[in-house]
Amino acid sequence: MKNQFHSVLVLLITILVNSFLHAQEIKVEPAFWWIGMNNPELQLLVYAENIAESEVEIKYKGIELVKVNKVENPNYLFIDLKIQPDAKPGKFNIEFLKKNGKNDIVFYELKKRKKISEDYKGFDNSDVIYLIMPDRFSNGNPENDSHPDMLEKADRNNPDGRHGGDLQGIINHLDYISNLGVTAAWLTPFQENNRPKYSYHGYAISDFYKTDPRIGTNKDYVKFVEECHKRDLKVIMDVVLNHCDTTHWFIRDLPSQDWIHQFPEFTRSNFRTPVQLDPYASDFDKEKMLNGWFDRFMADLNHDNPFLLKYLIQNTIWWIESAGLNGIRLDTQPYSEKEHVATWAKSIFEEYPDFNIVGEAWLQKIAITAYWQKDANNVDGYNSNIPSVTDFPMHSAISQAFNENEGWAEGMARLYYILAQDFLYANPEMNLIFPDNHDLSRFYQNMQKDIRKYKMGLSFILTTRGIPMIYYGTEILMVGKEHAGHGYIRRDFPGGWPNDTINAFIPDGRTVIQNEAFDFLKNLLNWRKEKEVIQTGKLKQFVPENGIYVYFRYNENETVMIVLNNNDEERSFETGRYNEVIKDYSKGYEIISKSELNDISNISISAKSAMIIELYNK
Ligand code: CA
Repeated sequence: MKNQFHSVLVLLITILVNSFLHAQEIKVEPAFWWIGMNNPELQLLVYAENIAESEVEIKYKGIELVKVNKVENPNYLFIDLKIQPDAKPGKFNIEFLKKNGKNDIVFYELKKRKKISEDYKGFDNSDVIYLIMPDRFSNGNPENDSHPDMLEKADRNNPDGRHGGDLQGIINHLDYISNLGVTAAWLTPFQENNRPKYSYHGYAISDFYKTDPRIGTNKDYVKFVEECHKRDLKVIMDVVLNHCDTTHWFIRDLPSQDWIHQFPEFTRSNFRTPVQLDPYASDFDKEKMLNGWFDRFMADLNHDNPFLLKYLIQNTIWWIESAGLNGIRLDTQPYSEKEHVATWAKSIFEEYPDFNIVGEAWLQKIAITAYWQKDANNVDGYNSNIPSVTDFPMHSAISQAFNENEGWAEGMARLYYILAQDFLYANPEMNLIFPDNHDLSRFYQNMQKDIRKYKMGLSFILTTRGIPMIYYGTEILMVGKEHAGHGYIRRDFPGGWPNDTINAFIPDGRTVIQNEAFDFLKNLLNWRKEKEVIQTGKLKQFVPENGIYVYFRYNENETVMIVLNNNDEERSFETGRYNEVIKDYSKGYEIISKSELNDISNISISAKSAMIIELYNK
């Protein structure tokens, strides 16, 4: 009798464990959602072997099961739910009823929102963004450098390998970042990239809902955002819609053949993004641009598939809501079907009206860049719904202007001409402007390691229109040429690793010239942070003459005069030419040298330098 009882018990436990394990095999994404979102609709992707053979049942007050969608692959179901206003936060069962009676259950949670939509305040021209590549900034947890489930192990000697940087490392240095004077942090993608090699950059995502375990956990990411917010730093997430890694679980078992763009043989994009707006573009070129793959291991996602598009929209909203983000940087904006990208952006703003998104439109021509900005005056009527664009034409101008002798269109005239074409932009104040980024040669390198040019360039970036972005390490004069390989422009921040011999996070760890750069930038950034006139004031520029470029930022209360001298010698000049802005002002305070100017009718400026002068009368 005792033995029989024991057998029954074992059998019961086995059944329970089996059913539990079985239930665990059902993947549901998003894993949870919220009550009280502006959009009451939710579509769940359900993945399990032959799940499409099940009937779906949900009994929870306020949850309406609208439709269960089947696709080509029987391992998927897409469940449309409607969350009614009377639904309360809580957990409920999604039951999958099978013909054999062995039903499965998934527990699903609808959470209470932590904030209302309007609290998700986006970044704008009052901000300066600090760009960090998590693998390369600081290693706060050496235990997670390699992970048993992840193919690539850490190797700090390999410029293209994983170096062990992580979220904890960034959290450890948030005071450093905040003290520098920037107001927002943008991390390159932190989601799982499970590739055998070259996985550190983050742009080949293998799980959209999961933080790469070598960078941290989803909980760590939420903590990172909270720690940023404590220091008044906004957080921008890097989102990749165009492609994902071929190791992603849904690429290995496609929901339908049209989930990605497929070709009889590997077909690379032609990277000619102008075909999206060229009135004479051929269908052949368009097809190759939009549907060709970015790389062999980056499956090109097909946003024409409505389930995929909804999946990506919900994924972005899930991260914004989970972490409390302030903005998105959208990778490769012009590489996907543009109407769908516009739909994605619109869906985000319907949920978070005060949010912001910057699209990476890596284009050299102003007209073509302007096309991708929200409310652009496009003849084809296209509206991307994305408020900020990456100002690559300005980057190109800055890279050249300070290294050239003056000409009709060279030297300072490059800056003048770039801004003179702002009429093409719907909102140039929202352009992201940058001296370099993670894909470009480092700025100090471009300035031929001449700190005078470096200071001029940064003075310009931080006082002209737009939203400035500073790439980590710029403040300590990190160098690197893009054509030497991306590893060289994404070096580890010295002092970020426990055994580093140099620690550039502290003044004693920096060289004299590094401290000069750091102090210069810190002074300028902290000044800009308080200067509404620089953030949102009007801009007036004067035609550069003899290598001197003068422009003003002004509003009702304040006027700031910026002077750039691109000559290799000191210059003096009369300021009568600028009287329409200077008006009654007679004095000034120059913020780089922190010195008073008692008479601004004549200004002397050192060789290759900038002056930023707050005008006043006393
Ligand atoms: Ca680590």
